[in-house]
Amino acid sequence: MASRVGIEPYMFEPEYNEEELQIVQIMVEEEHRREHGDGSRLTELSCWCSCSNCSIQETAKECICCKECSKTLEMICSAKECDCITVHPGFSAVCLNKWSLDVAWNTYKQFYSTVQSSFMENAKYRHIAYRQYVRWIHGRIGRENRMILPSCVVTTIRKYFPPTTENV
Ligand SMILES: [Zn+2]
Ligand SMILES: [Zn+2]
Repeated sequence: MASRVGIEPYMFEPEYNEEELQIVQIMVEEEHRREHGDGSRLTELSCWCSCSNCSIQETAKECICCKECSKTLEMICSAKECDCITVHPGFSAVCLNKWSLDVAWNTYKQFYSTVQSSFMENAKYRHIAYRQYVRWIHGRIGRENRMILPSCVVTTIRKYFPPTTENV
């Protein structure tokens, strides 16, 4: 576990820990699930994706379109001629740009001595890209915050930083 020597969790920026990665990867939004139900998400892409860039995920709860997330939708609407968060100009800058991900990684590493330095390159970039996305859309990552990672976001990040022989 990361050492938190008596620091208030929200006093400074990187209050994340490795458990949060799991939260991000799980991409569950209970509220969202209640609202939309699991239904036929695993078989009918067209019934939940309206951005055209999502793909069916392993579980129904992961099948969420960027346009179903209110915060993400706000971001989409803030850009011109943008129909999916992954084509928003901020997305590539924040989540796909290696320079920006390197900086984020360094910050993360600096605060969490337990961060695995043995991460393979792409796994590292995916890890940080997911976090950066949440931070971009939601401001900051807090343990209590429920995270949504739309399918198109996960799909795009995976495509950009594909798992290779690493088993991550
Ligand atoms: Zn979609
Ligand atoms: Zn999308």
